[in-house]
Amino acid sequence: MRTRSATLPGTDPRPRLTVDLGAVRRNMAALRALRPSVPVMPVVKANCYGLGSARIVPVLAEAGASGFFISYKEEAERIAEYADGLPFYVLNTLPGADGYTDQIRPVHHSVEELLAFKGPCGMQVEGGMNRIGAQLDDVSRLPPQTQVDLVILHMSHAGEPAAEANDDQRTAFSDAKVALREVFPNAAFGHSATGGALQGGHPEEDFIRPGIGLYGAKAGQLGPMDCAATLEAAVLSVFEVKPGEKVGYSHRFTAQRPTRLATLGIGYADGPPRSLLHRGKALLNGVRCPYAGAVSMDLLTVDVTDAGEIARGDWAEIFGPNLPVDELAEMAGTIGYELLTAVRGRTQRVYVDEG
Ligand SMILES: *Cc1c(COP(=O)(O)O)cnc(C)c1O
Repeated sequence: MRTRSATLPGTDPRPRLTVDLGAVRRNMAALRALRPSVPVMPVVKANCYGLGSARIVPVLAEAGASGFFISYKEEAERIAEYADGLPFYVLNTLPGADGYTDQIRPVHHSVEELLAFKGPCGMQVEGGMNRIGAQLDDVSRLPPQTQVDLVILHMSHAGEPAAEANDDQRTAFSDAKVALREVFPNAAFGHSATGGALQGGHPEEDFIRPGIGLYGAKAGQLGPMDCAATLEAAVLSVFEVKPGEKVGYSHRFTAQRPTRLATLGIGYADGPPRSLLHRGKALLNGVRCPYAGAVSMDLLTVDVTDAGEIARGDWAEIFGPNLPVDELAEMAGTIGYELLTAVRGRTQRVYVDEG
């Protein structure tokens, strides 16, 4: 009797994200090489921007990470065992929360929260973005806080090197470092995410904390570094419609010619947003095929008339080396960050290590 495994290549119809660990490693090396004496503390929030933190965090640890930033304590707890003992700094906190440890440390953004906390921690200070972080004036009046081991400021225009705000915020960082040196005598000070680091970094920062660059998409106008993520979908159905026939929810697409359609096993629940209607493209046989009709939750129909032979079980590139995530993001009116993090739990993740 023959049995058929659901895990045979090509028989699992779920969307497939192929992650190149080698590319992540090269991106880490390239970011470290920008300023070799400055430690790199990768941002691994949102499951490493969708790529899968249980597999990426050990690669980053081995490639020389000095610690990690993450948004929630629960995210850190889930992957702490893969981090080779390195600390996690949790960015999104509320006063009174407990359960932090030597390895999982909160980043406070209010003075009250900081003063009520015992144990190693970070501090976020506002430096012109006006989003989150304690005001410098409030923090600079404190007596010494020896438990704070790092202080972060965040840039609002890191991906836009020509923006005037960058100079103001670099000055705010320098001023904060001077004003807070005695308040936080044991702290390293950091300013740059990927964009800031690719702009050349801040001469006085003690570490950088890149995210998106490691995962191969652009930080604003800067990058991309090596492509690390390829999202593909299986062709579940191929059929023809006549001129005038309409396709999908609310019949948003009308065939203008005899049209061959392929319906892919992916939709807005796993990546491509509905805003790609009339704009998106998917790659089949090396041809960029336009989306035809509304993106459904788990299905996406594309016009493959010009793409040659297509059969059920073929795979289409949704984004990847031949259709960069930043290009698809632009078609959708968004940024690569949003498309990468839209790849969620159901998607199969396949890890390769190219060179
Ligand atoms: C997400 C985040 C980063 C990383 O930004 P990238 O642009 O992805 O490099 C750095 N610092 C903070 C505070 C963040 O929230």
